[in-house]
Amino acid sequence: MRWKSADYTGWGRALGATGQLARPERQSALTALVADAPAPAIGNCRSYGDACLNDGGNAIDMTRLDRFVEFDADSGVLHVEAGITLGEIARIMAPRGWLPAVMPGTGFATVGGAIANDVHGKNHHGAGSFGQHVQAITLVGPKGARRITLKSDPGLFRATVGGLGQTGVIVSAEMQLARCKGDIVTLTERRVANLDEFLGLLDRSEATYTVGWVDATARGDALGRGILEEAETGAGLVPPTRPSKSVPFNAPGFALSAPVVKLFNAAYLRRVPERGRTVVKPINEFFFPLDRIHNWNRLYGKRGFHQFQCVVPLAEAAALKEMLMRISDAGMASPLAVLKRMGPGRAGYMSFPMEGYTLAVDFRNRDAATRLIGQLEDLTAQAGGRIYLAKDSLSGAARVRAMYPEYEKWATEVARADPKGALATDLVRRLGLRDKA
Ligand SMILES: Cc1cc2nc3c(=O)[nH]c(=O)nc-3n(C[C@H](O)[C@H](O)[C@H](O)COP(=O)(O)OP(=O)(O)OC[C@H]3O[C@@H](n4cnc5c(N)ncnc54)[C@H](O)[C@@H]3O)c2cc1C
Repeated sequence: MRWKSADYTGWGRALGATGQLARPERQSALTALVADAPAPAIGNCRSYGDACLNDGGNAIDMTRLDRFVEFDADSGVLHVEAGITLGEIARIMAPRGWLPAVMPGTGFATVGGAIANDVHGKNHHGAGSFGQHVQAITLVGPKGARRITLKSDPGLFRATVGGLGQTGVIVSAEMQLARCKGDIVTLTERRVANLDEFLGLLDRSEATYTVGWVDATARGDALGRGILEEAETGAGLVPPTRPSKSVPFNAPGFALSAPVVKLFNAAYLRRVPERGRTVVKPINEFFFPLDRIHNWNRLYGKRGFHQFQCVVPLAEAAALKEMLMRISDAGMASPLAVLKRMGPGRAGYMSFPMEGYTLAVDFRNRDAATRLIGQLEDLTAQAGGRIYLAKDSLSGAARVRAMYPEYEKWATEVARADPKGALATDLVRRLGLRDKA
């Protein structure tokens, strides 16, 4: 297997790595590679920070291991190689009445990456996290491949799901798909006046898929205003998919300056009539709205951006209000800000979800944003919440350990699975997660 020198970045492009990448096409090649030179696996690098980076070292790009292995049409259990994307599974399976039970906001996430971050979707309140639908994982380590389930190896399974790739390379997974009606969604959108109304609507929503867009520039009585989206899958004539677009180069700083974002957000809000509306969309446009714009991460210029994502317990809505006030006062938010209610579902020791509200906001990479994100992390910690490591590029060791109460269990399993630390990534080193617990 050939190693090739490459420069690569997390999705936020604020952090990057230079190292050797191998891209095996068969499980046999992967097994030989890992026996010879174990290294962390990476998917499509849709993690924003450094979870998918190994600067100065090797990494195994899994995207060629992207085949369907087996599908049981009666039970809906699908066995796939770990490098296949969730978008591809949805594209093939939705017309047959099945979808991945959980899909994050990008269809480019691979199954391996979705397991390693135990990702959540717009249905987390009902369906839980991705790992809760995974029945078996085949892990490759220096001694070869091994199939694990929650029953056969509970500790290793929980350390692998949401485990940041530290227990071995996931070569394939068997997962329960969810029934869907077809490859369209019926989407109801309505304007929301402020944060209190938003949280009330999220609490009462009975839709299968619910997500909120927040205007993070709004203040005063309009603080936390936005659009609530509620959707169900459906069947029928698929409306034409809008053509893809591309951001061809790094945008200049003024593209996302405070006045531009304010104007954009006001117009975006008015897109939905005051009485609300119901529209029909192809599933990918609803689930993966940004995937249509290739390289949209270039909009933040060549220094890239950071995403802050936290979850706080339901009783801590005041912390969310304080965060939104600081964000709008700072005038640094981008148009991309998302609010969701999460249920309690999580499958791994280091899984992000907890029952509560999750807020995600993007900020152009600059010193003031780093300081603001530090404040938002303080508020998260005080509220008993946690930040999402798939998005993080700035946090510190002590903070993260305190937010993840099952960290010690994870660290013990990881030390057993990878005693020499061969699978460590930049994120794991930055946060000292493999240092002696
Ligand atoms: C536009 C956008 C929207 C998003 N929306 C959401 C969302 O709604 N919910 C959510 O939860 N996340 C969301 N994300 C984050 C994304 O789903 C996760 O970061 C996901 O892990 C990315 O998958 P990937 O295949 O690109 O993995 P990478 O980013 O390449 O890697 C992520 C981690 O997985 C490990 N890994 C990858 N493949 C393997 C493997 N085969 N074996 C072992 N370890 C492996 C890596 O070592 C790394 O630790 C979003 C990201 C983007 C860009």
